[in-house]
Amino acid sequence: MTRSQQYPARLFMITVILILLSLNSVPSISAHFFPSNASIPEDLLKNATSNPWSFFHQLSGCHAGEKYEGLAKLKSYFQYFGYIPDSVSNFTDEFDDSLESALRTYQRNFNLNITGQLDNQTVNHVVRPRCGNPDIVNGSTSMNSGKTHNTSSNHIHTVSHYTFFTGMPRWRKQALTYAFSPGNQLTDEVKAVFSRAFDRWSTVIPLTFTQTDSINAADIHIGFYSGDHQDGEPFDGVLGTLAHAFSPPSGQFHLDGDENWVVTGDVTTSSLTTAVDLESVAVHEIGHLLGLGHSSVEESIMYPTISSRTKKVVLATDDIEGIQMLYGSNPNYNGSSTATVQEKETGSSGAHRRHSTWDLSGLIVAFGFVALLL
Ligand SMILES: [Zn+2]
Ligand SMILES: [Zn+2]
Repeated sequence: MTRSQQYPARLFMITVILILLSLNSVPSISAHFFPSNASIPEDLLKNATSNPWSFFHQLSGCHAGEKYEGLAKLKSYFQYFGYIPDSVSNFTDEFDDSLESALRTYQRNFNLNITGQLDNQTVNHVVRPRCGNPDIVNGSTSMNSGKTHNTSSNHIHTVSHYTFFTGMPRWRKQALTYAFSPGNQLTDEVKAVFSRAFDRWSTVIPLTFTQTDSINAADIHIGFYSGDHQDGEPFDGVLGTLAHAFSPPSGQFHLDGDENWVVTGDVTTSSLTTAVDLESVAVHEIGHLLGLGHSSVEESIMYPTISSRTKKVVLATDDIEGIQMLYGSNPNYNGSSTATVQEKETGSSGAHRRHSTWDLSGLIVAFGFVALLL
């Protein structure tokens, strides 16, 4: 066969590969997983100081009405998490009213002293690693800042702090399936972490979660991605935002592939200051996948921040009351499922902005194949 005779066959092959890959693209990322503390490489320990927000420490003590280099960046941070409206743009380095207002709302949501100032306590909280889902959507919040506390009587009034997405979306079936992005090629050990995280929720509600290999048929899609991954919510490298998840019935669950994920072992004794506990983050994000927003209760799983080298995997009463409000109690659940909380919030905390598109990364991989074949 001559070279000119081979060409149509080769072109056909390339076309088929292109079509297949654009239909089910493969993210080109391999996340960093450390099965145990001992498996963390020495050079990583030496270079583990990066954090996209550590710069904010320099802004501690800034005063209203004055100008400081870097305040524009802080305003962008507050806008990302919903504390400054999306309509505002072209931020200046001026400590203006919008920043002071954002600070007050943030401080109320996180139970900090409400000063409207960039005090140490607030800055130390702002730089904490956290979930990428916003705390406030379209200016409304049902974390602390959106609540009306009943102070009309002398009784101590119990106020719930769990929240839902706008319209309280939830799954309308009980048997849910989940699948991992094939491109991540996760080990069974990593997959087992997600299985444990799902179990923590299925213990208290009558839902089941079963792993499937069919990513297209699964209700919940789990994947690790680096930086921009085509959904308008790029990840930011080590620490900063750790993961984000969409409200029902989207099922999209994305984790930052650049984090130093600890899979098993005691993360609290890790010598790596940027070590993040995978199961803790998974339990939180599954809360979003099921319909919960962020909570102001610091002990709750749905609290938006989690420090590195911290393990937090046990559902708090607040989480259980919230999720049972959506799905009822698992009949086999022995804990107290009769919520004492009477208030029900239906705000929009944590709502996700838009659906993902995967086509672009698939095409990039496909073109790589073409280049190889030619
Ligand atoms: Zn979250
Ligand atoms: Zn994403």
